[in-house]
Amino acid sequence: MSVEVHVLASGSDGNCYVVRSEDRAVMIDAGLSYKKIKSLMDINGIDDSEIEALFVTHEHSDHVGGAGVISRKLDIPVYCNQRTFDASNLGKVQFNPITMMNTVSVAGMDIIALPTSHDAVEPCAYMLNAGGTKALIATDTGKITFPVEHALEEANIAVIESNYDKRMLDYGPYPPSLKRLIDSDIGHMSNLECARAVKRTMHNNGRKIFLGHLSRHNNTPDIAKDTMSDITGIRRFHFDCLECQGDTRILKP
Ligand SMILES: [Zn+2]
Ligand SMILES: [Zn+2]
Repeated sequence: MSVEVHVLASGSDGNCYVVRSEDRAVMIDAGLSYKKIKSLMDINGIDDSEIEALFVTHEHSDHVGGAGVISRKLDIPVYCNQRTFDASNLGKVQFNPITMMNTVSVAGMDIIALPTSHDAVEPCAYMLNAGGTKALIATDTGKITFPVEHALEEANIAVIESNYDKRMLDYGPYPPSLKRLIDSDIGHMSNLECARAVKRTMHNNGRKIFLGHLSRHNNTPDIAKDTMSDITGIRRFHFDCLECQGDTRILKP
């Protein structure tokens, strides 16, 4: 089965992905306004009618800021764990609770929530399996958890967080307490941590790696791709990420 991951937005200004298999799709996170998401969907050729559900990773506003409105306007249910739902303030929506490490079948795909390590109530990544082709969306995690590393090993398409360059974070504008949080096990993944995880799981050569959730203040696309290339020995044109706000991608295996 064909699978496409549409990266509509990825970073602290907002996150939104659409994973499409055949003509059915789900959205992962909706951290931008309805209007903004709609215009990004138009750019990527995604129709409202294709999207059957919204999956939420965690309650931070860059992931759920537009989730309630999207759910109501597209008339689609929200899937996430109960604690994340309770913390998200989505208003009146159709809610389908899910639990970690249990598979649900939506839009012709088997979708499983994998625990991440982040300063949120019960954060997760998602692995989507469409007839054996697997896509992983894993951002907002201070370290690679065992289930996420295993998924990274198996994925045909992997969006993996490469949030910050350690030197840029250390010398950057953030207050010390925020720097410590970002750099901690419940913060975000650095370029180096991301590259090491990709290297550890590198026997899967056919997969597509996309660097997600780059920090606007503590990273650049060039530094993220260079670090990945330096550590893995894979040439940098094999790695992709969004270059600027409003940029989108369509990832295929
Ligand atoms: Zn985030
Ligand atoms: Zn977050």
